[in-house]
Amino acid sequence: MTASLAARNIMTGPVQELASEEIKQGALAEIVSGEKGGALAITEPSGGSDVANMQTRAEREGDDYLLNGAKTFITGGMHASYFVVGARTGGSGLEGISLFFVDADAPGFSRESVGPKMGWWASDTATLHFDNCRVSADRMLGQEGQGFLAIMNNFNWERLGMSAQVFED
Ligand SMILES: Cc1cc2nc3c(=O)[nH]c(=O)nc-3n(C[C@H](O)[C@H](O)[C@H](O)COP(=O)(O)OP(=O)(O)OC[C@H]3O[C@@H](n4cnc5c(N)ncnc54)[C@H](O)[C@@H]3O)c2cc1C
Repeated sequence: MTASLAARNIMTGPVQELASEEIKQGALAEIVSGEKGGALAITEPSGGSDVANMQTRAEREGDDYLLNGAKTFITGGMHASYFVVGARTGGSGLEGISLFFVDADAPGFSRESVGPKMGWWASDTATLHFDNCRVSADRMLGQEGQGFLAIMNNFNWERLGMSAQVFED
């Protein structure tokens, strides 16, 4: 239960704040009702602490972006229908990062379980792969290049909540 709620909980903030009305009325309602799963995809195989150095890229192609890269340790990732994904639309550093709302059935998206873990067996933790994954440009959350700020704002309360949860357990 905690793993299932946590995955949704850490991804709905940016959706509520930054997504279009269409996403809020459709996908967000499905996530909040429990009908569909959602997950936040920031951490990459190359490392999670250094968010400003993320490697996943999103290149504009017409009305779409093509995402290439991988994310790992994604809580709820095997069953989620929707993902909030950080990707680099610009140059190096924190100003080059944007956020996207990605459907699990987007072309070029695939996932695999991280496999047996030492703990938190209830979480369907996943590695996500983006291979020319096509995402409509109107699925960008917030403004281009503002993704790092959105991620940090989200981390502020996410970390606080997790600290409280650890003490509660
Ligand atoms: C149970 C669980 C659930 C998770 N769920 C999600 C999720 O849903 N979505 C998601 O995106 N991510 C998720 N993560 C990933 C998590 O955000 C990362 O594990 C975390 O950011 C650390 O990244 P890393 O494991 O790659 O370690 P690294 O960043 O590689 O760090 C390795 C070690 O080096 C230390 N270190 C790193 N940088 C420095 C520095 N500059 N100076 C000194 N020491 C440093 C770290 O403290 C750590 O001890 C989850 C992780 C866990 C354990």
